[in-house]
Amino acid sequence: MAATNWAGNVTFRAARVRRPATAAELRQLVAESPRLHAVGAGHSFSPAADSPGELVSAEGLPPAAQTGRGGVRVSAGMTYGQLAPRLDRQGFALPNLASLPHITVAGACATGTHGSGDGNGSLATAVSSLDMVTADGGLVTLSRNEPGFAGAVVALGALGVVTSMTLDVVPAFRIRQWVYEDLPRRALDEGFDEIFSSAYSVSAFTTWRDPGRLSQVWVKHREDDGWEATPRWLGARLSARQLHPVPGMPPGQATQQLGVPGPWHERLPHFRADSTPSAGDELQSEYLLPRGAAVPALAALDPLAGRIAPVLRVAEIRTIAADGLWLSPCYQRDTVGFHFTWRKDTAAVTALLPAIEERLAPFAPRPHWGKLFTMPPVTYPRLADFRELMSRYDPAGKFRNAFIHHVA
Ligand SMILES: Cc1cc2nc3c(=O)[nH]c(=O)nc-3n(C[C@H](O)[C@H](O)[C@H](O)COP(=O)(O)OP(=O)(O)OC[C@H]3O[C@@H](n4cnc5c(N)ncnc54)[C@H](O)[C@@H]3O)c2cc1C
Repeated sequence: MAATNWAGNVTFRAARVRRPATAAELRQLVAESPRLHAVGAGHSFSPAADSPGELVSAEGLPPAAQTGRGGVRVSAGMTYGQLAPRLDRQGFALPNLASLPHITVAGACATGTHGSGDGNGSLATAVSSLDMVTADGGLVTLSRNEPGFAGAVVALGALGVVTSMTLDVVPAFRIRQWVYEDLPRRALDEGFDEIFSSAYSVSAFTTWRDPGRLSQVWVKHREDDGWEATPRWLGARLSARQLHPVPGMPPGQATQQLGVPGPWHERLPHFRADSTPSAGDELQSEYLLPRGAAVPALAALDPLAGRIAPVLRVAEIRTIAADGLWLSPCYQRDTVGFHFTWRKDTAAVTALLPAIEERLAPFAPRPHWGKLFTMPPVTYPRLADFRELMSRYDPAGKFRNAFIHHVA
C-alpha cells in the first residue's frame, strides 16, 4: 500500500520509505540513490516531503539527546514528544513548542513550524547547528553565523538529509494555562497588541460563525510571572472547565488548563502527546503576515465568513517573532499567523483558498510550507542565495521534488 501523510490527503509518489539505522548507512543510501527526499513524521498537509524516487526517514537513527554547554544535540528524527521530557528531567527547556509534540525536530524546523508568543521565534530559531548528508553522501556541518546556515535550517529537505541538530536550551520553566471564552471581536481589534503581549504565548480561536466574538483565547503564562486570572478580561469570560479548541472534540485531549502549573512541554502545546492532536480528520492552511497588518487583514477576511464557516473546524491567530532564516515565513518581520483547521474536504478547501489569498494579498502573506495553499510562490529576498545552496549541495537535483520545483 502506498504511504500517505498523517492527514491522508497526500499519497506519496515515492515507491518506499527507507529507514537507515546508522549515519553511515544513511550516507551510503543517499550516495547511491538517484532520487530521494527526507520525510519526518509526515504531518505536513503539503507534499513538501514527497519524492518521485524514495523517501528516507531519520527515525531509525539512534535517538540521542546530549545536553552540553552549547545546547542539546538531538537526532533529527526524534519527535518533540520524545525530546522534551528528557530535556525537562535534565533541568532544561526549549524556548517554545508547536501546538503538537508529535512532529520531528528536523521536519518541523524544515518548514518553519512555530508556536505562539510575541517574543518567541519559530522552532527553527532554536537551531544553532546541523549535520546534513548532502547528495554525494558527504556529511556537512553548518553552524549559526557560518555562510549558508541561515538558508539550511528552513530548507524543506532540498539541501540534504539532516541527521542531527543542536538546539538552544533555557532553564526548565513552568507554565499556567487559562482559557477565556467569547472575546468580543471589538476587543481584539482595539487591543490586539495588548492581548498578544499579555502572556508568554497567546492563541485566539474563532469559528467564523459569530462575527462579534472569538470563541476562545488561550493564555500561557510562565509561573514565575505571577499573573493571576480574573473572571473577566477585556469582555471575555474565564472558563471554569477544561476545553478543546476544536468544537466537538474531547477536552481531555487538550493540555491541562484552569491555571494548574505544569512543565513547559505539557502546557506550551495545545494537544497532549498521548492523544490525537487537533481533530484528526482535517486539513490545514496558514498564512503568515506582518504583525502590524493583523487587524486590517482580519477585517479583509470578514466578507468571506459565510464561505469560511461551513468548511472550517476552527481558526487560530498566533504571533511569532521575526528571524533571519532565508525561507522562514517569519523572515525579517514580526509575524501574525492566520491558521485554518478545515474539514477534510479537499475540493471545498481548494475552492475557497484562492478567495482567502486574494483578500490577504495586499498584506504580503507567506503561506506555511507544511500546509495547503494555492497562491503563486512568494519570492523571498534571499531566494537566489537558497538556489545557490541547492546547486552546491545537490547539483543534480536528487532531493528536488515537484513542491520544491514549484516554490524555489
Ligand atoms: C495536527 C497538526 C497540528 C499542527 N500544528 C502546527 C503548529 O502549531 N504550528 C506550525 O507551524 N505547524 C503546525 N503543523 C504543521 C507541522 O508542524 C509541519 O507540517 C511540520 O513540518 C511537520 O513535521 P514532520 O516531522 O511531520 O515533517 P514532514 O511533514 O514529514 O516533513 C516536512 C518537511 O521536513 C523535511 N524533513 C523531514 N525530515 C527531514 C530531515 N531529516 N532532513 C531534512 N529535511 C527533513 C521534509 O522533506 C519536508 O520538506 C501541524 C500539523 C498537524 C498535523
